[in-house]
Amino acid sequence: MSPGACRPPVYRRGFHGPLSAGARFEICAGAILTQNTAWRSVERALAALSGGALMTPAKIAGCGYGRLYRALRPSGYYRQKARRLKDFCRYILKEHPEGLAGWFSGNTARLRAELLSLKGIGPETADSMLLYAAGKPKFVIDAYTRRIFARLGFPPWREYGDWQRLFESSLPPDIRLYNEYHALIVGLGKDYCKKTAPLCGKCPLKNFCLKNF
Ligand code: SF4
Repeated sequence: MSPGACRPPVYRRGFHGPLSAGARFEICAGAILTQNTAWRSVERALAALSGGALMTPAKIAGCGYGRLYRALRPSGYYRQKARRLKDFCRYILKEHPEGLAGWFSGNTARLRAELLSLKGIGPETADSMLLYAAGKPKFVIDAYTRRIFARLGFPPWREYGDWQRLFESSLPPDIRLYNEYHALIVGLGKDYCKKTAPLCGKCPLKNFCLKNF
C-alpha cells in the first residue's frame, strides 16, 4: 500500500475557545520549556511558575535567576531554559509592549521569521507558538510526526520544512484541524508507535502502515 493511501484515525474536532493573555503566555512558556523534555515535567515547571506568581513576561523578566531556576528545575536543562525564557520575556516587553495578542495578530510569515530570529527558538518551538498561542495555521512537526510517518512509508526527510510541506500542502489551513491532528499524532506516538517496541498489532493504522523500522 502506498503512503498516500494511509488515512488518519477517526478525527473529531475539540473545543478551541478564545485565549486569555495568560493562556497565550503559558503556551509560549511551555513551548520553550518542552524542548528535550517530556510534557509531564514541563507541566510541573509551569505549575511552579503559576504557583510562584511568575506567569507573566514582566514577572519572569524581573525575577532573579535563583528563583527562576527553582521553578524550572523539573523541566530539565533549567539554567539554559531560564535564560531563554527570560530573554523571550525581555524581548516581548521591549519590542512588543502591546502584548502577545497584538504581536501575534500580525502576518504569519513575518511573525514566524521574527520568532526564529530569537536565540533558542527553532521551527518546532516557533510553530507551536504560532498554532497554539497565535492561532495561525502552521503545522507543528515533532519527533512523533517524523517517527510515525517515516514508519508509515513516507520518506525519512531530515529537513523540518520537508515534513511541514507534506502536511500543509495536503491539508486545508485550518487551525482546529492542525491542532487536533497534531494531538492525535502525539497520542499515537505515546500509546502505539513507541520509539522501541511499537505496538503494531493494536495500532489503528496497522492496515495502512509499511512498518518501516
Ligand atoms: S503500525 Fe506500527 S509502525 Fe505503523 S504507525 Fe502503528 S505502531 Fe507505528
